[in-house]
Amino acid sequence: MNKLDTVLVTAALSKAGFELADGVKEADVVLINTCSVREHAEQRVLSHLGHLKHIKESQPELIVGVIGCMAQRLGEKLLAHETVDIVCGPAQIPQIVRLVNEVLDGQKATAAVTEKIREKTSAEQNRALDDFESVFDTDKTISAQAYVRVMYGCDNFCTYCIVPYVRGPEISRSPKVIIDQIERLAGKGVKQVTLLGQRVNAYKYTAGEKTYCLADLLYLASRVNGIEWIRFVTSYPSTEFFDEILKAMADLPKVCNYLHMPAQSGSDKILAAMNRHYTAGQYLKMLARAREVVPDIALSGDFMVGFPGETEEDFQQTVDMVRKARYKNCFVFKYSPRPGTSADKRMQDDVPQEVKKRRNIELLAVQEKISDELSRQFLGKEVEVLVEGLSRKPHLRSSKDDSNPQLIGRTAEDYIVVFNGPESLAGEFAKVKITKTTALTLFGELL
Ligand code: SAH
Ligand code: SF4
Repeated sequence: MNKLDTVLVTAALSKAGFELADGVKEADVVLINTCSVREHAEQRVLSHLGHLKHIKESQPELIVGVIGCMAQRLGEKLLAHETVDIVCGPAQIPQIVRLVNEVLDGQKATAAVTEKIREKTSAEQNRALDDFESVFDTDKTISAQAYVRVMYGCDNFCTYCIVPYVRGPEISRSPKVIIDQIERLAGKGVKQVTLLGQRVNAYKYTAGEKTYCLADLLYLASRVNGIEWIRFVTSYPSTEFFDEILKAMADLPKVCNYLHMPAQSGSDKILAAMNRHYTAGQYLKMLARAREVVPDIALSGDFMVGFPGETEEDFQQTVDMVRKARYKNCFVFKYSPRPGTSADKRMQDDVPQEVKKRRNIELLAVQEKISDELSRQFLGKEVEVLVEGLSRKPHLRSSKDDSNPQLIGRTAEDYIVVFNGPESLAGEFAKVKITKTTALTLFGELL
């Protein structure tokens, strides 16, 4: 979501005549797009602001804006920070060009945040967001790929989560607007679209007699010429529409066989305290169903360790779930209390930091072994990848030959593949023979 917002804001400013600077030193305006999901992310923003304060001492004209979830959460409080000139929440980003221009014209610091974020947004506001969404170009950082938001916000209120309070209520965009946007992107050379929603599988839009679900969107998007691969994230473990979505995945060659479905915990007690509406058993049944309908599906998940009240036994149930789920990979986070959420208001953050850390490491180690085993199955095999571009991690680069640099791509199942090839392959499909594997990366030779 944040990557998409960054692309949208960059596109809007470029259209208004701004250019991306090479770095802070060359910039007239610095915008920081922020995340509020964990405290650590917010602390990093505050430390960036501290750094910018120093720069502003020698460049007093520099304009600094904070956009995104942290802007929405803290609003005017952020404006009180002496470095900050602009504060703009995620639902207000269509105003970004105006805000920047006003401050450039000498107006004082300004904030645009949604006052009652959980209130239903007006039709006008939705239209502004839809229009803003539609102007955007492709993501220049990853060739031939684009994100398409199909829903705003979230109504699930997991007890630990800040998202409903900073991204507002769940609203599905109309299928027509979404498909028009995908067609435009295809016209610009986009080959892969990733449909985005906090609970993307809860997508629901009623037009006349018909109610569209995510599966309908997948069928419609599959018909768009030029689009070769379609992904969607993130799926919430709910049986509503689940079979329809799996069936679409199995039926439609363009829909990638990859499902990211966070479980968060393997303990029913913790799942209930998190307000997740499913049990560990039901979750594992859903994974089994996914594997039955889409046999070569790759699965990934998110887990949180150290949620209030998580005992060693609860944690072991999580370890057990990771063993049973056999994910391709999963993301593990240490619980971080978020102000205003019900977990923060009603529960004690009672798992010590060292325990959270140890559980995090232990869970990742269990997953790493599984990832390693699954990756090994690719040894000697040929895979098709969509090439993203140069491998950004320099330690992965082994070739000194400029005409044959190290490239990075992904398979339809979202495996990362690193290989040498011409940079012109960025945005193209390529076949690679896998010669070496690690838990998270496949290495190979271009065929
Ligand atoms: N909408 C998505 C995820 C949004 S946040 C979903 O429901 O899956 C991404 C991940 O951050 C979550 O899956 C969760 O594992 C983690 N997360 C969310 N709130 C958190 C918190 N307060 N502390 C630690 N991790 C958190
Ligand atoms: Fe947060 Fe839960 Fe909504 Fe995901 S489903 S965004 S974790 S409230």
